Amino acid sequence: MTSLDLLANQAQERTGGDASMEVTSARVVSAWQSRWSSSSKGHGCFKSYLHRFGHETDPFCTHCAGAIEDAEYVFFVCPRFEALRHELSLAIGKPFTVSDLMDTLLGSQNNWDAVSKMTVFVMKYMRRAERQRNRLQT
Ligand SMILES: [Zn+2]
Repeated sequence: MTSLDLLANQAQERTGGDASMEVTSARVVSAWQSRWSSSSKGHGCFKSYLHRFGHETDPFCTHCAGAIEDAEYVFFVCPRFEALRHELSLAIGKPFTVSDLMDTLLGSQNNWDAVSKMTVFVMKYMRRAERQRNRLQT
């Protein structure tokens, strides 16, 4: 299933009526997270995922003490990407938040492209960081 399929499903669910926007957005974020997590070398690059499968000694962000490093944390909270989030916010004309991720993505082609650009950058960064940790361990 493509990311677009996920969003289409979500849009369909929304027209169903009873699911709240936040719950539905959380579901899409979760689906994206598992896709992102499993897309790199078959075992992901977020430490929470790697830790679950014994590839990391802990699930914590290497930058933030005590924070679990998963896709949502990395994209929306981790200070490592604050400048990128700021740049993205300027591009989409509003703060980049989980709660209106779907509205942002579906809002315009410009929004979709801006979020995609950040996603590509972050994923390359995370994969590089994972490779560096692996090199240090061996
Ligand atoms: Zn962090």
